[in-house]
Amino acid sequence: MESNCIFCKIVKKEIPTHVLYENAKYLCFLDINPVTRGHALVIPKRHSHDILECTPEDRDGLLEVVMKVAPAILKGVNAVSFNIGINTGKPAGQSVFHTHMHIIPRTEKDQLPNWSSNPAHAKELHRIREKILPFL
Ligand code: AMP
Ligand code: ZN
Repeated sequence: MESNCIFCKIVKKEIPTHVLYENAKYLCFLDINPVTRGHALVIPKRHSHDILECTPEDRDGLLEVVMKVAPAILKGVNAVSFNIGINTGKPAGQSVFHTHMHIIPRTEKDQLPNWSSNPAHAKELHRIREKILPFL
């Protein structure tokens, strides 16, 4: 537990949240600033800064909880699909540094932008691949 971590405080029930699911190791609650109705967060109760620092055990169990809760969220808010996401690091949008996974219900009508992308040339893809492979 980190004394000044907001999600650790949520785990300890020092800050109230709208809990959807809880077991010994994980907690799922509604995001206080939702992207869409039903936007929820799944966290391991054990503190880690981000998914890179999270233990493999805590990390792998996250998806299990997501798969348990997401179908219920979809039914509950009448959504047809969802995004799951893990923002890792400030440039990627991480603002709370306690590992968490977002579940964001989506509907045809929500008008949310998806990631913008542009086609890349094969040469560029080859160059990037060459840079990455030595680290694998
Ligand atoms: P991220 O930007 O990926 O770090 O996501 C952090 C999320 O935590 C944001 O979507 C916030 O709205 C959400 N959040 C912050 N404080 C609370 C809180 N007290 N209860 C519920 N959600 C929170
Ligand atoms: Zn924490």
